[in-house]
Amino acid sequence: MNLAFQLSRLQKIDTELDQISQRQKDLTRLIEDQSIVDEVKNRLDDVNAELASRQRTLKGIEDKNNQLQMKLQEDEHALYAGKIRLPRELQDLQNEIASLKKQISTQDESQFNTMMQVEDQEKQLSGIQAELAEAQSTFATRVAGWRGEFSSLEKKKENLLTERNAAEQNLDTASIQQYETLRKTKRGLAVALVSEQACAACGATLTPADWQAARSPQRLVFCTSCGRILYAG
Ligand SMILES: [Zn+2]
Repeated sequence: MNLAFQLSRLQKIDTELDQISQRQKDLTRLIEDQSIVDEVKNRLDDVNAELASRQRTLKGIEDKNNQLQMKLQEDEHALYAGKIRLPRELQDLQNEIASLKKQISTQDESQFNTMMQVEDQEKQLSGIQAELAEAQSTFATRVAGWRGEFSSLEKKKENLLTERNAAEQNLDTASIQQYETLRKTKRGLAVALVSEQACAACGATLTPADWQAARSPQRLVFCTSCGRILYAG
């Protein structure tokens, strides 16, 4: 039984399993990252707060305006009722009516402007609400895709683990341990292919003797540069 070949099978499976596990981690992160939706929600909250404050301002202006209108009605009623006879009092009343009319006109203008602003913000708000619905739907579609990918990777993983168990049956415990130790220290890659008489993992050229040995089926040859098990194919 070619030991290096058996270990290279194990390596191939483990590399695939590592890739699957990395991709699944990425997918989990993607699924949990709602930032494209949160960003729109934050803008919606901001505009909602601004709108509420402007609506309070508008209510204040309307209340003030109503008070002025009532006072004007009272004064006009008093004026037309003809009960005020003293010229001085009459003059005062007329002055007050003129002043009230002026104030009402100013209030009307600011009420109109504030109403326009409220209307603008309501439009802005419904725009952002539509944007939010779209962001949520886009995100939901993406999440569905990611979940699908995740579960098909899970199936692939199960198959690979079955394959791995079978591959391990052909190996002795000492070789497996040697392989596992190397995998831990060599960033997951314990077995390196030999390509053009060089180690494919680190690029070091093999001596003719090592190259010859790497092709022999019985014993393991290690790269003199990176220390990985060499598999010459
Ligand atoms: Zn090497």
